[in-house]
Amino acid sequence: MSSFKLRIAVIDATAAGKGRRRFTRDAIGCGVRSVCGVLEEYNIESKIFLAENIIEKGFQGNFTTLFISGMSMDKVAIRKVVNIWRKKHKGKVVIGGPVTSELENSLKETKADLIVIGEGELTLRELIESDYLSTNGNISDLKDINGIGFFNQKNEFVLASYRKYSSHKEFRESKTSTKRITDYTNYFSAKVYVECVRGCSNFGGTRIKLPDGRECSECSFCESDCLEDRAKCPSEIPPGCGFCSVPSLFGPAKSKSVEQVFSEIRELVALDVKRIVLSAPDFLDFGRDELVAPKPLMAASHPKANSKKIKELFTKIYSLEKVSNGKVWIEVENIKATLFTEEIASILSKYLPNSPFSIGCETGSESHAQMLGRPSGPKDTLRAVKVAHKYGLKAHVYFIHSLPGQTIKTAKETADLIYKLEPYIDKVTIYRFRPLPLSAFGDFPDPKPAVFNPESKIIVDAANHVNLMKKKDLVGEIVRVIISEPNYRDEKGAIAYILGGGPMVAVENSRDRIGDIVEVKILRALSEKLVLGTIFNS
Ligand code: SF4
Repeated sequence: MSSFKLRIAVIDATAAGKGRRRFTRDAIGCGVRSVCGVLEEYNIESKIFLAENIIEKGFQGNFTTLFISGMSMDKVAIRKVVNIWRKKHKGKVVIGGPVTSELENSLKETKADLIVIGEGELTLRELIESDYLSTNGNISDLKDINGIGFFNQKNEFVLASYRKYSSHKEFRESKTSTKRITDYTNYFSAKVYVECVRGCSNFGGTRIKLPDGRECSECSFCESDCLEDRAKCPSEIPPGCGFCSVPSLFGPAKSKSVEQVFSEIRELVALDVKRIVLSAPDFLDFGRDELVAPKPLMAASHPKANSKKIKELFTKIYSLEKVSNGKVWIEVENIKATLFTEEIASILSKYLPNSPFSIGCETGSESHAQMLGRPSGPKDTLRAVKVAHKYGLKAHVYFIHSLPGQTIKTAKETADLIYKLEPYIDKVTIYRFRPLPLSAFGDFPDPKPAVFNPESKIIVDAANHVNLMKKKDLVGEIVRVIISEPNYRDEKGAIAYILGGGPMVAVENSRDRIGDIVEVKILRALSEKLVLGTIFNS
């Protein structure tokens, strides 16, 4: 490792799109903080910036190196940041995050020097220990590093060998930075994601024929609980749901320890963070890996959720005064319907009453779900949301339109299911299918928006209808919100987010309450995404 003193600008470009975040403005993911955690291990100074702030104001301060994290949709914003950097800096530009699963394309389009693919912590340690990031560093320093891609002197793309997924132990050895959270100007009111589980326990595969002719031969290797056997799939079908790249990128589900998650939350709360999301592709995989260790967790339904570990975690979190007295809001991110039982619902409702969570259903057709490689079907989702409703929990259900295998029949079944779910859920969210690199469906064409596809429109119309009814239901309700930012259309008002999820709220006479959690009465809907409210109980 050279003695060159690194000072790294770490750019969070997630959801920045062409340069400005238009949605999820109140969410702070955990990936960028985990990069800063590795830098802190090496006493390397770093500071986090949002891509939009750099695009607006340029770089303030002296930095030797630029790290950027973002998704495929953020390539334009990333490119703009790189261009600004290149005008005044000579230091290397390294890109990480989901955008890098586009491999060569992500490097070409962003003009970065290097991509780090998949889990970044181990690769980053090796990069720091090499000379590459120093002023004199060059690509010969990269020869023994896996999990990266770059252009060589002949301008040919070089893809190093893929890095093995981090082991349970390695995953637990990484500490996510907490102090860098204050680099985000809205950290005190934003949802801050705390990583509890990485990877996915669904290691089956899609049954849909892929564009290059690959098709499942029912050899049943994917039912094995051995990672090496799963990798022997003779048809080379990537693991997991066909549309998803989580299992390929991050491997089988592994969880952090109760103590790690708790200390991270305790430190964040001490820094005045007020909203925490326990982040996981499936929160109910938390501690479930310990039940099958030392084997990897590669089955989505068995064993059942580790309720003992989940309870232990919640008890610790609840011991924080600001959590138990309602000054800090905690919620879980995603759960799989198959693992959601009455026992789990009663634990969640005891510790996180009225909490929202997301369930991915994706299609309303049982046979389509099976073909996609889903670990659960529509019946499981319907059962799960009924249980959630019984315990006062707010389920948000996700679907995807224009998926491979979608037909008029599956679209109608999906719309029917959305109507059936309506009494038990809070919201339906519909995404358009995107062919993600490293997923089984990566080579399918990018579909058009739903308005151009009558089948997809059936699904979207059903969701819009249900969501509209839900919004009308809100008028007259008292909801807990966090007052987050000034409302520039009302000089005394502010914009607030409903803690349990829902539309944004324009709150009258609340400008001096920014950062507070208060109860608000909803007066009326102002637009599709905004309602008007007034402080009910200060
Ligand atoms: S969609 Fe969920 S269950 Fe399916 S592979 Fe991705 S993370 Fe796993």
